[in-house]
Parts: sequence; structure tokens; C-alpha cells
Amino acid sequence: MKKILIIEDETSIAELERDYLEINGFSVALEQTGDAGLKRAKTEEFDLIVLDLMLPKVDGFEICRQIRNDKDVPILMVSAKREDIDKIRGLGLGADDYITKPFSPGELVARVKAHIARYERLRGGREPKNDIISIRGLRIDKSARRVYVNEAEVVFTTKEFDLLVFLAMNPNRVFSKEELFDKIWGMDSFGDIATVTVHIKKVREKIEMDTSNPQYIETIWGAGYRFKV
Ligand code: CA
Repeated sequence: MKKILIIEDETSIAELERDYLEINGFSVALEQTGDAGLKRAKTEEFDLIVLDLMLPKVDGFEICRQIRNDKDVPILMVSAKREDIDKIRGLGLGADDYITKPFSPGELVARVKAHIARYERLRGGREPKNDIISIRGLRIDKSARRVYVNEAEVVFTTKEFDLLVFLAMNPNRVFSKEELFDKIWGMDSFGDIATVTVHIKKVREKIEMDTSNPQYIETIWGAGYRFKV
């Protein structure tokens, strides 16, 4: 199911957009302030973003600019004023399309579908986001071997990174220390299963807000560890 993020502060418009997109088979996330929308856009993967221009806290121009800095996702800008459209074009912010209020929900859905299809053609069926694991505030870039917690990069050792990626790619499954040792350290003769405990602790210190109440890597007593999604 394709995921759409709507950033729109007017509740009636936001809900109308969401309802029509959902009826048309999209999964929709909704944020009603600029800062919350920007955070969501940066930390989660979406197939398209419907972005209102006038928003509290951070406006649509700034959001578009920031998303474009690090993401390749179609952005459909929504504005109440036709003059804004010229401004968006003039600024060269990289928005893919513009739509002025009032618009018909059918028009919105048609544009959303067209842009998602166009991006898929451009990617040529490649799925670059397979290299990115994004869960709440945690983002793991597998090909670059980098980890970001709430957009701040955190440095991982090789084994810490391998352990985190392995767990994150097999969510909701419990792995014993022996299994993890086997998977991550394999033939390396260094260490023993106590190494797993030490590495889990280090990974938690890097990704968890509160290591005594972990939100990502849970301890299942007597069984092992489980990555929670
Ligand atoms: Ca608005």
C-alpha cells in the first residue's frame, strides 16, 4: 500500500484529503503543524507528500526545501493563492506539482496517482528505500552504514551496526544470545555470548531514550532479544 503524508493545518481540508486518498487505497498519515510534518517527513518513508503552504511554525516553502535536501519523494504543494504558485516556481524548491484551493478531491487523487506512477518509472522499478530502515525516530542507512537518531548521526562500530541491522530487519522475532552470536560474529573466534550482551547494551545506549525502558530492542527474559516495530 502506498503511503501518503498530508501536512495541512485546516482540519476540514486535511480530513477530506485523507478520506479521499484512503478510499482510493492509500495509507495516509496526517500532521497539522509545519514542525511535526517536517519531522515526520524526515524520519519516515512516504511515497508522496501533500504539503500545504501556509502552516503554523514552519511554512511549506521551508519544509519543501528541507525535504528536498535529503529525500527523493514527490511533493504536491497546496496553496490558497494563485500568486503563491509563481513564488514556488520562482524559488525552484523542487516541488513536483502545485494545486490551488479549492480543488476537487478527485483532482487531488488523480495528481497523486500520476506522480507516484511517474516516480516509479523514473526509478525503473528499483526500490532504493530498501537500503533505508526507518522506524519512529531511528533511521538506518544500510548502504552507507550510518545510523541517525532523531536526525542526529550516531557512530556505530562494525559489530554494533551489524547487530542492529540484523534485529531491525527481522522485527518482532525473538533471537537467543547464541543465535545472535552465531549470526553476527559467526566464524570470528573473538568473544563469546557475553559479547552479545555487551553489544546490546552499547546499541541501546546509542538508540534508546531510556535504556531501562527500551523502545526498540526488548529483552525477553529467558529467551533473548526482540526488535519491536
Ligand atoms: Ca494552511
